[in-house]
Amino acid sequence: PRRSQVQVNPVVEACLDMLGYNLRTAGIEIETRLDDTLPAIFADADQLHQVLVNLLINAQQALLDRPPPRKISISTGHHDALKQVWIEVADNGPGIPEELRARVFDPYFTTKPTGVGTGVGLSVCLGIVESHGGSLSVDCPPEGGAVFRIELPLCARAE
Ligand code: ADP
Ligand code: MG
Repeated sequence: PRRSQVQVNPVVEACLDMLGYNLRTAGIEIETRLDDTLPAIFADADQLHQVLVNLLINAQQALLDRPPPRKISISTGHHDALKQVWIEVADNGPGIPEELRARVFDPYFTTKPTGVGTGVGLSVCLGIVESHGGSLSVDCPPEGGAVFRIELPLCARAE
């Protein structure tokens, strides 16, 4: 079985260990706010890692050519009543125009030049999160940027 009891914060930290050097080299400040009281979730840690790497690379690409300060913030938390853990990946890039927001999760939807983006990243992320019984959404706050939020149940339903 690829799913087991997984601590989310170490998965976040593994992603930052992998990508942090690149992000900092691109002039991006990384802020983490990891809730150290998170309960474990029943999940596929490799798939969760893949989702977070995708979101972080999208955030990095959104910050390309943006004026400093360039920031990515990654936070975790939990909602006991909903038996749920959440992870947010936020950037202070250009955000996503409201009329495109619903389409970014569609397979092959990309606004990047050919050869840069294939548009599959977020559709794969959505598939993984939904296969865990969770949800993936994006919000663009008035102050700018994009916030991707993953909500995962503590216990996934059957695969
Ligand atoms: P790709 O990265 O190959 O374009 P994705 O499925 O990962 O494909 O993303 C689809 C589209 O969603 C991107 O082309 C971009 O327009 C938009 N997008 C994704 N993440 C962000 C972000 N953090 N800020 C702004 N736009 C984003
Ligand atoms: Mg992508």
